[in-house]
Amino acid sequence: MGGVTSLRLRGVSKSFDGVTALRDVSLDVADGEFFTLVGPSGCGKTTTLRAIAGFESPDSGQVRFGDREMAGVPPEDRDVGIVFQNYALFSHMTVGENVAYGLRFRETPGGQSKAARVADLLELVDLPGFEDRNPDELSGGQRQRVALARALAPGPDVLLLDEPMSALDARLRQDLRTQVKRIQSDLGITTVYVTHDQEEALAVSDRVAVMNDGRVEQVGRPEDVYRRPNTRFVAEFLGENNVFAGEVDGRGGDDSGATVRVGGATFRLPGLDAPEGSEVVFCVRPEHLTRDAGENGFEASVETVEFLGESFRVHLDWAGSSVTLRAPERPAEDTLLVGFDPEDAHVVSASGSGRAVVEERS
Ligand code: ATP
Repeated sequence: MGGVTSLRLRGVSKSFDGVTALRDVSLDVADGEFFTLVGPSGCGKTTTLRAIAGFESPDSGQVRFGDREMAGVPPEDRDVGIVFQNYALFSHMTVGENVAYGLRFRETPGGQSKAARVADLLELVDLPGFEDRNPDELSGGQRQRVALARALAPGPDVLLLDEPMSALDARLRQDLRTQVKRIQSDLGITTVYVTHDQEEALAVSDRVAVMNDGRVEQVGRPEDVYRRPNTRFVAEFLGENNVFAGEVDGRGGDDSGATVRVGGATFRLPGLDAPEGSEVVFCVRPEHLTRDAGENGFEASVETVEFLGESFRVHLDWAGSSVTLRAPERPAEDTLLVGFDPEDAHVVSASGSGRAVVEERS
């Protein structure tokens, strides 16, 4: 396969007829990394991918492959393999011809015959011997694997995947994502993956970039971005979260921390360095809300309970706000006393604090 390469975007902006799709996007993707762009519909993921592929030219900013500046380099000279969300297989060609189509502009890597290369790729995507099938004789997941084989055929430096699984049902998505991840790591190919599915992004990526409204909100390893979101948007977009907004109404008794009033309750946040009167937004994951209330407890009424298999998701109403908790058993009561360990509260913004945690975007 081709050599791996790093990608660098610097200050990339792009508008379409007055609609701003990308605002000053800067990203670094390392050699061989599985890097995912995740965010809601319209946040700019596909436009970012298209700028990397060369289908869009940025209005400003730079795209580099390794040391090479890509401005003016057409897509066919960029050494990228692309898989799109809709199966872009040619229905009048066999599976083997579809994969070989990926080799139309390129020498076969390593001087292999085309047929040997196609056979190897079909083996790689777990479809050995499928050369003579027609695309309409394949399942959706198999078609996407053929599309992946075709994208990989010329041995590209970079693999770009744009929602390749969005047309598949949940079980197939999980199988395919495991396969894509295995193939990517076997080949060590630099990969940029676009999805709006946050669970998928957290599951497969080395690092994720969470995008919102044309901007990159946060980049990091899945576990870091999940546990330490920089903004309220990231806190709410990745996984479930309970967001509390309140005001500092006292400093901690010891040398650090503060108490925050939220509605009628007061919570102690030991790590919070913010003066009295500051507005604070913090979050507590449902798995960190417990029925062992401790000092940060409050009473809330049970609205609905969903059985998830390994636990129950309990939707609570707390003075007009909804709060979610995970419980090992279905609660018998209508009202629960719940709370959280202060260490499990994560502050996403505090206006007027000594350390500006983040600036919230309107
Ligand atoms: P989705 O998950 O829905 O595909 P996305 O995050 O990939 O969304 P983009 O497709 O990058 O988002 O679009 C970003 C913004 O730019 C959107 O407001 C979109 O309508 C707009 N946009 C993208 N391409 C074009 C185009 N060719 N012409 C006009 N507007 C466009």
